[in-house]
Amino acid sequence: MKNQREEIQSHTAESGKSSRMVRLSMTAVALLLTAALSAGCAKDNAPSSTKTPESSSAQQTPGTETGQGKVTEPASAPSESSGTQTGNTTEGTGEKGTVKSEGHSEGLKETATDPESDAVLVNKQFGLPDDYEPKDLVYPNVPFTFSEKIDKRKMRKEAAAALEEMFAGAEKDGISLAGVSAYRSKKTQTSLFNRYVKKDGLEKAKTYSAVPGYSEHQTGLAIDVSGSDGKCAAESCFGGTKEAEWLKEHAQEYGFIIRYPEGKESITGYKYEPWHIRYVGKDIAQDVTSKGITLEEYYNAVKVSGTP
Ligand SMILES: [Zn+2]
Repeated sequence: MKNQREEIQSHTAESGKSSRMVRLSMTAVALLLTAALSAGCAKDNAPSSTKTPESSSAQQTPGTETGQGKVTEPASAPSESSGTQTGNTTEGTGEKGTVKSEGHSEGLKETATDPESDAVLVNKQFGLPDDYEPKDLVYPNVPFTFSEKIDKRKMRKEAAAALEEMFAGAEKDGISLAGVSAYRSKKTQTSLFNRYVKKDGLEKAKTYSAVPGYSEHQTGLAIDVSGSDGKCAAESCFGGTKEAEWLKEHAQEYGFIIRYPEGKESITGYKYEPWHIRYVGKDIAQDVTSKGITLEEYYNAVKVSGTP
């Protein structure tokens, strides 16, 4: 049931207006990504202790460069467990090959593989560069379900500002939101993941926790959100709550998407997570949401894996 990869049919941008240039670049990158992913398919069922060697893009699109979409082994499910973050420092299993971002050619700065881009694609196939840390993390001024001023409150600056606007917008509609878990360093993810491995074994852990380096939370652009009562925080019972409904309806107005929508498990590799929102900027958020697609489809990338 793992990882039958298929290429997702192009949904090519006919909607790009302001961002046509960017979209053209993205389309080019998508071709690269697709080629790279196809090249990596055979490795997907390898146990996670085995690194998948980086595969290089099989073909090049003129004007672009290879070296961006190096494929590594999929990481399995997200770790939406808002679990403790202050944890220990164990680094260990779960260290994976990651996508290196060197080799960008000019004109492709807003691409799926640029970790500094608001629109970076991070999933079971596309990891972040080794030990990537966003440089502009700040504390968004919104309520969280906990009071400590710790890393998991942080988001990248632009995402944090958008989050503040979104929470204010929700409040106007009588919806009180709270942050549950935002930024997570690779080190923290490693601790979490190792803990899960200890508890449940590697294979099972991978079904609900992201392999370090492959968590969207490491980008500083993703956050798990709940109602201000913290009920059902990062749990499936959050679905259907008025807060979840509000997010589904309005998140894109602020540049966020529901990153793992219902019914898209086979594409995102993640089950429906109504609480996990991802900042991608307003243009992309509105495009993705209005079309009912995922970020993978937006990039014309390939399916990530089967349902975890
Ligand atoms: Zn999440």
